[in-house]
Amino acid sequence: MKFDAPITIALSKGRIFNQSLPLLAHAGIEPADDPDTSRKLILDTNHEQVKLVIIRATDVPTYVEYGAADLGIAGKDVLLEYGGDGLYEPLDLKIAQCRMMTAGYPDRKQNNGRLRIATKYIKSAQRFFATKGEQVEIIKLYGSMELAPIVGLSDLIVDLVESGNTLKANGLVPLEHIADISSRLVVNKASWKMKHGLVMQLIDAFRDAISQPTT
Ligand code: ADP
Ligand code: MG
Repeated sequence: MKFDAPITIALSKGRIFNQSLPLLAHAGIEPADDPDTSRKLILDTNHEQVKLVIIRATDVPTYVEYGAADLGIAGKDVLLEYGGDGLYEPLDLKIAQCRMMTAGYPDRKQNNGRLRIATKYIKSAQRFFATKGEQVEIIKLYGSMELAPIVGLSDLIVDLVESGNTLKANGLVPLEHIADISSRLVVNKASWKMKHGLVMQLIDAFRDAISQPTT
């Protein structure tokens, strides 16, 4: 690929950064630093024109919508909460795959009042229970949702489940499937127009990388 315009890609460190590396490599992009050891928030790459900004997963859509980054890589869970139609979502990258589910105690007593649901996924939880016609009370948490039923804060949680081991370690079981989650490429609307050739080349390179069995 030839990078003939500046391009900034927003992504979060950890799982998404690590699983994005093979996709970026397929587009010829090699980060100059590892965000797990570097304190830099903007990573240089082997291309002068290509920068990576390393931010909180939930901030990626904001950076991309407002054009602070041309492209971003964000979990569908984050995009569902972010909502709106402020950015394009042209490609499922098939990385960081898991499921959004309800979870709770296997032998939970059916209570008559409104169920209390602890989650950081307020919108997704509201939508899910509204579709089922269930009146629930949603309690916003920012992490460690598994704790909520244990300490009696909630009846159920809505969280991401991969192996189910975290739930199991806390005596909980996955109950109902809400959505399949994976990370998506998101693109700023102005960049889509102004840097169309470059954006299309990146999309093609990522799509090609995804279709290869080893990635
Ligand atoms: P944070 O804890 O800051 O939200 P994570 O790396 O745990 O960062 O999550 C970043 C994204 O990775 C999430 O938005 C989601 O899309 C995905 N993700 C989170 N947990 C899992 C999981 N257990 N398996 C697969 N993907 C996950
Ligand atoms: Mg996490």
